[in-house]
Amino acid sequence: MEREVAARNASGAQLRIRAAGMPAVKTIEDFNFDHQPAARTPLQALASGAYLTEHRNVVLLGPPGTGKTHLAAALGIAACRQGHRVLFATATDWIARLSEAHERGRLAGELTRLRRYGLIIVDEVGYLPFAQDAANLFFQLVSSRYEHASLILTSNLAFSSWAGVFGDQVVAAAMIDRIVHHADVIALKGASYRLRDRGVDTLPSIKAEQESLD
Ligand code: ADP
Ligand code: MG
Repeated sequence: MEREVAARNASGAQLRIRAAGMPAVKTIEDFNFDHQPAARTPLQALASGAYLTEHRNVVLLGPPGTGKTHLAAALGIAACRQGHRVLFATATDWIARLSEAHERGRLAGELTRLRRYGLIIVDEVGYLPFAQDAANLFFQLVSSRYEHASLILTSNLAFSSWAGVFGDQVVAAAMIDRIVHHADVIALKGASYRLRDRGVDTLPSIKAEQESLD
């Protein structure tokens, strides 16, 4: 009986992981924290999933290659194993999805439906700038989840640069306010893991970005 319950939970977790659309099955155990020592304690605490029942958010900031997507997916997998429904997509994909719902007059319904997911992951905020109406759509996603369900966001930009991405200082400030009110903000640092042992410390373009994050 116990074995059957365990098997059923495991297959439920597998179904949730598949349905979540994670880019790769990467786990916390696969992550080498010697490269990001400051992230070890907060990530291990987050992996327990308490933030999900408290409807708190997680923001992972840092230059390219520092493990933001890996850790976001790893937290997503942990959440699936803990019984939560999860959806992972890039910021660009989320905007496309919300725009489509909006055009069909179904935005409110879509936002309500998304609240049934305990965790929504928005990867790569900041790689591409958004149009003005996109910023408004994204703001509505953030507002509809505020104090109801968790978000994980990743970005290569400091919050101070988000206004440029969203094209609207006021919308960006209101959004960051809601995201950060109950959030763990984790700054990843250093050289790209992709470029390790290549004799390339950090690409020059990234050095400038990183300095702006400090
Ligand atoms: P980012 O999203 O910050 O650009 P990724 O999470 O995509 O970076 O990481 C780039 C690659 O390096 C991925 O294959 C990821 O699994 C791996 N990686 C990054 N940091 C670590 C780490 N500390 N330990 C193990 N693998 C890592
Ligand atoms: Mg990434």
